[in-house]
Amino acid sequence: MKRPSLSLVVPVYNEEENLSILAGRLQEAVQGRDYEILFIDDGSTDKSFEVIRALAQKDQRVKCLRFRRNFGQTAAISAGIEMAEGDVIIPLDADLQNDPADVPRLLEKLDEGYDVVSGWRRDRKDKTWTRVIPSKVANWLISRISGVRLHDYGCTLKTYRKEVIKGVRLYGEMHRFIPIYAAWEGARVTEIEVTHHPRQFGQSKYGINRTVKVLLDLVTIKFLGSYATKPIYMFGGLGMLLCVAGAGFAGLTLYHKLALDIYVHRNPFVLLSIFLILVGMQLVMMGVLAEILIRIYHETRKRPVYSVREKVNISPAGE
Ligand code: UDP
Ligand code: MG
Repeated sequence: MKRPSLSLVVPVYNEEENLSILAGRLQEAVQGRDYEILFIDDGSTDKSFEVIRALAQKDQRVKCLRFRRNFGQTAAISAGIEMAEGDVIIPLDADLQNDPADVPRLLEKLDEGYDVVSGWRRDRKDKTWTRVIPSKVANWLISRISGVRLHDYGCTLKTYRKEVIKGVRLYGEMHRFIPIYAAWEGARVTEIEVTHHPRQFGQSKYGINRTVKVLLDLVTIKFLGSYATKPIYMFGGLGMLLCVAGAGFAGLTLYHKLALDIYVHRNPFVLLSIFLILVGMQLVMMGVLAEILIRIYHETRKRPVYSVREKVNISPAGE
């Protein structure tokens, strides 16, 4: 069979009523293109897998990977990306909240010369207090901290060129941060508004606690992004700052002794000075350790520290 050019990646956890309708709408939306629909059954306990298997029997382009147990939406999307054969990868939710009819518009936008087109559920149909408002705050923070400004990181419906996301490792709730990784690698990222529907069948698997996880993931991302190649700058910088402050208090203690005749054992600043210098030195050492760790990390990933967009007069064999 010919390699498809478009891979639709659908994470599925207990969505039995939605799947047939979704498959139908997807097939309609991408009619005439070479596509594959990858369902990742994330350990559903209902009839989801049976439904997908029946769909796959009718259409070879429908494929399914079934997890042994529930590993979470990020793991499911990650597996789908890993498996995808298309040059363009589009993840979307299985619950019909994302609208397959938006797919052609996303592809058009991608053809304008972007590597990532993010969906923006401007009119989001979820619970206001536990979902929509926390998500607004989170999106604002993520945009500020990552420097990649998007209105809706949480929207699963996004479009990626394969080369900017193959090989990204996703942990926790991190599938929403793929555009950040991609942008950091030099990808051209944009967004368009997409339709969002209220959930008709089945239940949402998330509540407010996901926002907390997302914010913690953000700390990791920020650290990896800003300091992953040079951790010594952060640890070492902070450590040196503390050492300088410590030295300042040591000088103050000396001044107190010489000018005011206050003995060291009666001066609390001497303890502060020792404390700051010790902690400062520890931080510098931690920076050195982090440097060693990060080198091992990059070696094991076997990926260069740069990323190439095009090559001229350079044969692909040289890759
Ligand atoms: N999902 C999944 N594994 C999970 C939880 C959810 O694969 O552990 C899928 C789910 O079937 C749906 C998508 O992820 O296709 C989004 O889930 P949900 O609709 O519950 O999230 P919400 O739209 O409420 O953010
Ligand atoms: Mg949903």
